[in-house]
Amino acid sequence: MKFRFAAHSQCKILEPDPESRKPNPMPATILDGTKIAQDIRSEVAAEVKIMAAAGMRPGLAVVLVGHNPASEIYVRGKVKASEEVGIYSEKLTPPESSTTAELLAVIEDLNRRNDIDGILVQLPLPGQVDSKKILMAVDPAKDVDGFHPVNVGFLSTQRPGLVPCTPAGVLEILKRSNIPIAGREAVVVGRSDIVGKPAAMLMLNANATVTVCHSKTHDLPGVCRRADILVAAIGRAGMITRDFVKPGATVIDVGMNTVTDAAEFNHFFAGNAKREENFRKKGSTLMGDVHPEVAEVAGALTPVPGGVGPLTIAMLMFNTVKAAKMRRGTRVPELSRA
Ligand code: NDP
Repeated sequence: MKFRFAAHSQCKILEPDPESRKPNPMPATILDGTKIAQDIRSEVAAEVKIMAAAGMRPGLAVVLVGHNPASEIYVRGKVKASEEVGIYSEKLTPPESSTTAELLAVIEDLNRRNDIDGILVQLPLPGQVDSKKILMAVDPAKDVDGFHPVNVGFLSTQRPGLVPCTPAGVLEILKRSNIPIAGREAVVVGRSDIVGKPAAMLMLNANATVTVCHSKTHDLPGVCRRADILVAAIGRAGMITRDFVKPGATVIDVGMNTVTDAAEFNHFFAGNAKREENFRKKGSTLMGDVHPEVAEVAGALTPVPGGVGPLTIAMLMFNTVKAAKMRRGTRVPELSRA
């Protein structure tokens, strides 16, 4: 990206060259997360087949407490994906009124079972439950969400462990799209424990120079414009505009925001016939944290939907097989060892 020095009263400020606001003659390559996720699921299915033939079919337990409609949809997707790749899955549905002690008993039982390799507790849990205590109780070897502090520690010390699914999916998109990471400037906007921090750690481990931004970051657009790889994990529809993006950069949009307001929809998507038809039918549209205009500046971009989203479940399947292999160690047939 070209920069010019702007002479302000006392000091010189680095501003983007107006040249860089010109549309990129080559619009961004759209990184097809659905295809990448499908490839991973096929690879996982092949591994599961080998393991099952050796009597070690990986097993996943999903704990869904109460009746949160969004959680029910997510869990249905996870169980269906497990069936498709041949993983044994079990859905446990303790009632909404469950206490921390009752859920701890459920987790302890799953920890003990040899046919269960992965345990996933669907969040959020009801208000009366101590969520941290429940997540801490999951055996780190079965923690397929990668949220347990033991797995967080393994990630930050580059030891084998279970990595949170969405950030792991971000890395898979980069690697499988042949986007170089080592030596590049990576900027992650968002510092949550489940997305921003692990995504930053994974890119650091892959030898990027990583900056993590958040709501208190000064000159966010300026920091983001340094990025060769920009990861947006904020939860604010269309916040990352072209002014945040170095021409040619790779932009990974983790955000999932539901837009229902017609004026907001038109602001982002007026003239997009496919989106308009969908919005008319459903009354809402799913969009990321990245403004559609970024496609004119970026070199490569993940769409929403169809970008990072599908990778999350694919990496859950991957993690379940990884947990099974790590637990069962040398008994796993040679071909399917990591
Ligand atoms: P959190 O709300 O936990 O974290 C959001 C982060 O964004 C925080 O670190 C916050 O900063 C930062 N932030 C908020 N506003 C601003 C701002 N104006 N400027 C700079 N930084 C800001 O969200 P999650 O990490 O859980 O999720 C992020 C997004 O990713 C959401 O849209 C979520 O739906 C989506 N998501 C998608 C998944 C998928 O499968 N594709 C899976 C998981 C999440 P601070 O820390 O200072 O508050």
